[in-house]
Amino acid sequence: MTDNRRIPQTRDDWQALAASLNFEKGFETRAYIDDAFVDAADGATLTTTNPATGEVLAEVASCDAADAEAAVAAARRAFDGGAWSRLAPAGRKAVLLHLADLMEQHRHELALLDTLDMGKPVSSSLGDMAGAVGCLRHHAESIDKLYGEVAPTGDDALGLVLREPLGVVASIVPWNFPLMMTAWKIAPALAAGNSVILKPSEKSPLSALRLASLAREAGLPRGVFQVLPGFGHSVGKALALSMGVDCLAFTGSTGVGKQLMQYAGQSNLKKVFLECGGKSPNLVFADCKDLDRVAEHAAAAIFHNQGEVCIAGSRLLVENAIREAFVEKVLAAAERMQPGDPLDPASFMGAIVDETQHARILDYIRRGVEEGASLRTGGRALEGPGLFIPPTVFDGVTDAMAIGREEIFGPVLAVFGFDSEEEAVRLANDSDYGLAAGLWSQDIDRIMRVTRRLRSGQVFVNNWADMDQTVPFGGVKQSGNGRDKSHHSLEEYSDLKSVWMTLAT
Ligand code: NAD
Repeated sequence: MTDNRRIPQTRDDWQALAASLNFEKGFETRAYIDDAFVDAADGATLTTTNPATGEVLAEVASCDAADAEAAVAAARRAFDGGAWSRLAPAGRKAVLLHLADLMEQHRHELALLDTLDMGKPVSSSLGDMAGAVGCLRHHAESIDKLYGEVAPTGDDALGLVLREPLGVVASIVPWNFPLMMTAWKIAPALAAGNSVILKPSEKSPLSALRLASLAREAGLPRGVFQVLPGFGHSVGKALALSMGVDCLAFTGSTGVGKQLMQYAGQSNLKKVFLECGGKSPNLVFADCKDLDRVAEHAAAAIFHNQGEVCIAGSRLLVENAIREAFVEKVLAAAERMQPGDPLDPASFMGAIVDETQHARILDYIRRGVEEGASLRTGGRALEGPGLFIPPTVFDGVTDAMAIGREEIFGPVLAVFGFDSEEEAVRLANDSDYGLAAGLWSQDIDRIMRVTRRLRSGQVFVNNWADMDQTVPFGGVKQSGNGRDKSHHSLEEYSDLKSVWMTLAT
């Protein structure tokens, strides 16, 4: 644990805070099951490493099926016991607000853990903490303000539509925004009265384990929130196949999302709520006024978080009339977004999460060159230590190329040209994914025409990724089937119960 009273401002401050962390003493690296920190049943551990330096950070419990079973049993006991599931919503609100306060108090430590674990710049991690705390507060505040329904029946009946928690929810989350993705899942699930088992990514388990201590301190009853670090193919799969899990709430790749649906079919037909990958198009029309500003946003849309963002604007579709000049502006913006030490608050980009992802990104870059796209900047890893790839821009990309179709999940931008609105819409929609789309134009008629035709869960008009807790987040097609954030996310974590009462008239 660290001293959170001192607010780190400079790189030296963050380094000092990092040096004060002691993962061997005082920091829980064990699983959190049934209100206790415990080793994995078989004693296995996994190693988590800082990708910016290559240093080993910690050995963390690596859970498997036996741990999943223990956690599911505890979660079920908690749910059936009712201390949380039947607590008045105002009571759940109080505890969740307390947890939000504790997270805010410890935001520097939590941000640092995510940065050390997966390489993102600490300024970006701090932004994630604000998002995570805001998400928790939003759902805590809303849960005692939602009413059920009375159906419009005749006088001889009373029809009630009640919202009830699902039971045991397993939340399986990725590493790119470790704590923020966690908050998007657990806040509405807990607010709705469920018992939640969190499975963080094996690449970024530390902030989730710290969150477990804070949840305990906040007063979440025994078994209501548990954390099982470990690999997807072991503990993740065990949760997904469990007959005792009622809902899988997943954020991650489309491939794993498909597997989870199969596991649900092989087991108890549990509800599977998926937030998956993307290859999001960002459409720039020639009528834009301030092309410098648009170019800055188009670059940030892909290079933010090293391109390891589900809604990265990885396909830039530019009207050919302005394409050459616009690409020059994007290249200039990319030049200002070079990777640096994640502990330096001035760094825009940090390190790539691990060697596997690093190699995967470089392989896509090699394929882009081989497929004949024009490499305009970047394209090579920086010299070690650490896993850094600079902003990489390909122009002249077509939808037949792998770099134009597949999710790379790295700082690689694919630029396409188009001549007409019709062609822009066709290119934008020619994708297996449908998570986000951007649209830059001054023409309101065009904006509405194109927005309606884009097959995408969200459309950003004259911005990229501006949003808050009040609007739902999620995709269509192979980008998923649910919504995080806003009141709509509560629908993912509750069932409707219809009550029909016959009345004497
Ligand atoms: P991933 O699918 O490899 O892993 C996600 C989680 O699933 C991890 O916790 C992992 O351990 C677990 N997992 C893996 N195999 C499993 C299995 N067989 N059974 C059960 N669990 C399993 O994804 P990742 O590499 O961690 O994250 C990157 C992906 O996440 C990208 O595709 C990105 O677009 C997507 N993502 C989507 C959103 C969204 O809101 N739509 C947000 C962030 C990331």
